[in-house]
Amino acid sequence: MSSPAAFTKLSRRVTRVMGLNPGPMTLEGTNTYLVGSGHRRCLVDTAEGLPQYLEVLKAALAASPTSDAKPEIASIVLTHWHRDHVGGVPHVKEAFPNAVLYKVPSMCAAAQHEEALATNNGLISLVDPMTSLPKCSSTQRPFLTVDDESTLEFVLTPGHTDDHVTLKLVEENALFTGDCILGAGSSVFACYAEYMASLETLKELQPSLLYPGHGPVVEDAMGRIMEQIAHRGKREEQILSALKALSAASSNGGGSATIVEIVGIVYRDVPQHLHPAAAYNVLHNMKKLLRDGKCFVASSDEEAATKLLRAMGDYDGGEGTTEDVNVVTNIVRHLKWGAVQHARPSL
Ligand SMILES: [Zn+2]
Repeated sequence: MSSPAAFTKLSRRVTRVMGLNPGPMTLEGTNTYLVGSGHRRCLVDTAEGLPQYLEVLKAALAASPTSDAKPEIASIVLTHWHRDHVGGVPHVKEAFPNAVLYKVPSMCAAAQHEEALATNNGLISLVDPMTSLPKCSSTQRPFLTVDDESTLEFVLTPGHTDDHVTLKLVEENALFTGDCILGAGSSVFACYAEYMASLETLKELQPSLLYPGHGPVVEDAMGRIMEQIAHRGKREEQILSALKALSAASSNGGGSATIVEIVGIVYRDVPQHLHPAAAYNVLHNMKKLLRDGKCFVASSDEEAATKLLRAMGDYDGGEGTTEDVNVVTNIVRHLKWGAVQHARPSL
């Protein structure tokens, strides 16, 4: 696959600027987007902070001159706290000091750490779009007027992270989906239930086009959203059937399996280096299955382990939570799970 150009004009209002940080989790790198057709532009995400990114960003602005004045960045919106989206804030703010920086607050400790880095420990102020912007009279969602013909509506889509926001470019019926839906492959999530609810929210918006945080533009927006909803449902079924198969095969050991063993079956066709990320998703699936009464914790200190898992909040045990990373690694590698063979009928 050839790598995309450093910046590309995608529509009358949207130019993609690459973060120049390709990798296994970032695909071709982070996509950032310049929105607007007048001299005031909005930048969606800032990539991870490589110095050459700023040069590309400036070149992208210079390549789309307007009749009245030189284009400048008047606002920045961050879809969520991950470093590959917020790391470029100090560079961009230095170049465009008047840009207003919008971000939904996160409750996670690691998020607050990243925000502190991105804002130079509070020297750059973050504005909460949910409380500071006017609300659309029909949808009640906050909106940002970029210029006369570009409006961005803020749609909360937690799940990948607790602060994740999707932006709707009203005039194109297009969505900037951040890491909620990628242009290729599927995303990791920190809370399964909220992630699935966010996919449903995107479906209800009936978009025509997706501009993802990684990967190519998605022309078949509804097809992609439906595919992701189906994919997650299928994975849950695969996880449960792998657990049942492993439990049956190890009946003398009490019929149980670890998350690592489950990943080995369900993700056998996925490259090995992506298995840790897959294990992270499976842990969140297991927490849901535990709550649904479809699996149980089969370790010797079952009571303590179950209590720990049940006590975990929706985002606990996920990337960027206060949980000790060793606790999560231990759960993934060593905690044994069993399948409830005959689930109680729901009443
Ligand atoms: Zn992310």
